Amino acid sequence: MIVGGGHNGLVAAAYLARAGRSVLVLERLATTGGAAVSTRPFAGVDARLSRYSYLVSLLPRKIVRDLGLDFRVRGRTISSYTPVERDGRPTGLLVGGGERRTREAFARLTGSDREYQAWQRFYDMTGRVAQRVFPTLTEPLPTRDELRARVDDEDAWRTLFEEPIGLAIEEHFSDDLVRGVVLTDALIGTFADAHDPALPQNRCFLYHVIGGGTGAWDVPVGGMGALTDALATAARDAGAVMATGHEAVRIETDGRTAEVTYRTADTESVVAARHVLVNASPQELAVLTGDEPPTPAEGAQLKVNMLLTRLPALRDTSVDPRHAFAGTFHIAEGYEQLATAYAEAAAGTLPAAPPSEIYCHSLTDPTILGPGLVEQGFQTLTLFGLHTPARLFTHDNDSVREELLKSTLAQLDAHLAEPISDCLATDAEGRPCIEARTPLDLERGLRLPGGNIFHRELSWPYAQDGTGRWGVETRHPNVLLCGAGAVRGGGVSGVPGHNAAMAVLETLGAAS
Ligand SMILES: Cc1cc2nc3c(=O)[nH]c(=O)nc-3n(C[C@H](O)[C@H](O)[C@H](O)COP(=O)(O)OP(=O)(O)OC[C@H]3O[C@@H](n4cnc5c(N)ncnc54)[C@H](O)[C@@H]3O)c2cc1C
Repeated sequence: MIVGGGHNGLVAAAYLARAGRSVLVLERLATTGGAAVSTRPFAGVDARLSRYSYLVSLLPRKIVRDLGLDFRVRGRTISSYTPVERDGRPTGLLVGGGERRTREAFARLTGSDREYQAWQRFYDMTGRVAQRVFPTLTEPLPTRDELRARVDDEDAWRTLFEEPIGLAIEEHFSDDLVRGVVLTDALIGTFADAHDPALPQNRCFLYHVIGGGTGAWDVPVGGMGALTDALATAARDAGAVMATGHEAVRIETDGRTAEVTYRTADTESVVAARHVLVNASPQELAVLTGDEPPTPAEGAQLKVNMLLTRLPALRDTSVDPRHAFAGTFHIAEGYEQLATAYAEAAAGTLPAAPPSEIYCHSLTDPTILGPGLVEQGFQTLTLFGLHTPARLFTHDNDSVREELLKSTLAQLDAHLAEPISDCLATDAEGRPCIEARTPLDLERGLRLPGGNIFHRELSWPYAQDGTGRWGVETRHPNVLLCGAGAVRGGGVSGVPGHNAAMAVLETLGAAS
């Protein structure tokens, strides 16, 4: 039995069904996919957007191969663009489009080759770590010492695993904008300062630079729903049964067999299972089993989806908007700006200049737009805002959402030659094609605890007290986590789904 039909639940279902097990997936929503789905959010408009998660890095090719998924990703030609005003002039940093162009862009912005060389050295280091750490994610958990030996680079280990990432960033880079671009990978879905001694920012950074053994973030062809659809097909073809509109409300177990009580719109029933894999969050697991809940999680991001009739022109005329928006477009993400935004939010107010990043899916993969929209030059835009923790929304989610959206778009507008609102398409009712989700919206819609996109704070990818052999174990031997809340969970990876399936198959192998 699998509680939750998010992409990880589907990965577990597909592996177990292919191994000949009898599998039932209970999903409370009307569709599977959880935070990895595509939808048409704008009435009467043929644009199928990745509604929540949008880029893929952490999904091992092994899972795609093992499950025979009909799913592809496409690399982005541009890694990032960060606009900035220097000496009263609009300019920016474009990373990507070839080594020569990137080197020139760094030199133009910073006045010398120094930052570019530091960049190369720093990301050569993370690249080496990626090659060594990424393959371990689908193996039984290494101990800390084993992983350290595998990394086999004491400087890299200290930089990424032991000291706040802010130290390394300040040591390697001197330009505030360059420092900010590096730091953002440590802050996606993670509310932390660059120097937080508990290192949640380092764990976030690590997961952002090891994916696929390279750290590249690719575009899922057809949108994130294409992945979930391929997974659901693989699970069904192997015999798994998918029950949507079925909410698990209780799990009772004696450690050998379990009973799961579920509710539909009009019934409540009980199903028995030898193993229960929980794709829902650790918080939800505690509710289901009646166990002590874990430390509350909290998300801190704003997610905005937009459909544009055209890409906006930039104030920095040296860059083509088709290049600037093809990669990650950083806004108000200078190093000092990030520190200020964090301090403001930690003190209980919305950041005055909310940091965010934007990317345009349709430039790399137009298949998510109907042919009419492609012909007219429409483009999608996804914005992911940082440093706005759930606690800032609790007193009035609707009005804080509106205020934050306004100030976030104002930060974008500051770098555009025309306001973004002039470029928004309208839906069949004449409303602008834009939707925004706060952490509280995500908690209500998807049951992400506190709106945390990773279900809980990310964990180190090595064994710690009580993490078990695969990092999916709970205190009940036949109840396992198979979602983002497992060790090495978080992100669109399928890793916890794979690992929970391996743990079950190992147990059954040992038992038979
Ligand atoms: C806005 C946003 C942007 C993101 N961007 C990216 C990105 O670009 N790239 C990336 O790699 N990651 C991204 N992430 C993170 C990533 O999407 C998640 O970490 C990942 O999708 C989690 O997958 P999951 O299958 O473990 O859990 P979920 O997707 O959360 O699925 C859990 C499922 O369990 C169901 N469920 C819960 N309780 C019950 C119950 N009692 N009974 C039955 N069903 C239940 C839920 O309805 C849900 O379908 C983003 C997340 C968000 C929210």
